[in-house]
Amino acid sequence: MARHCPTCNRSSDDIRFFGEFCEICTIEKLGRKIPTELKITICKRCDRLRFGNEFIERDDALLGDLLQKGFKEWDVKLISSTGDAAIVELSKPEQHIDGIRQEIKLIYQKQLCPKCNRRAASYYEGIIQLRGSPERVQKMLMKLEKVFEANDEFFSRVDPVNNGINVFISSKKLAAAFMSERGLKPTMSYELYGLKNGKKLYRNTYALHLD
Ligand SMILES: [Zn+2]
Ligand SMILES: [Zn+2]
Repeated sequence: MARHCPTCNRSSDDIRFFGEFCEICTIEKLGRKIPTELKITICKRCDRLRFGNEFIERDDALLGDLLQKGFKEWDVKLISSTGDAAIVELSKPEQHIDGIRQEIKLIYQKQLCPKCNRRAASYYEGIIQLRGSPERVQKMLMKLEKVFEANDEFFSRVDPVNNGINVFISSKKLAAAFMSERGLKPTMSYELYGLKNGKKLYRNTYALHLD
């Protein structure tokens, strides 16, 4: 049997109902409580999106999480998205509201993520000095590059020198892991370059002779 909306008298034969009221009246009643836009922080260099304290490659799963985090009082389901808008379905099961379709405007706030920031500042924590025949130096450089890329770290500079190259690296920790995993035993030296919260900061130099 058809129900009728107590506000506008529309029939449930003609329109969807959420609980006791029709869709139109429900949406009208909610009015400005229905979200229309979401602010997203994007890295202007690598285009990754900020989620909590991290910057992550954009995909629908991430966008869905961002929308849900932004509109906590709703159950949010992402239907589709373009660069500057997302179509979602908003629900509040406890109020019998099931899937209001809504277009959300995506508003981007640009900044540099920590990684791109360090890159822009030519940040480095250490220098790996590769020495030996050009072939072995090149081979080791490629291995190193692969590991740094896979771990989201980088070289801020690669300088050719007389009998090899100097690689300015963004992570001491990753360099140490690289060396120990391969049983490499570099000659280490340390240079004090600053203080952070009263702690001394050192840059490590790893001299590696490959022949
Ligand atoms: Zn109504
Ligand atoms: Zn970035």
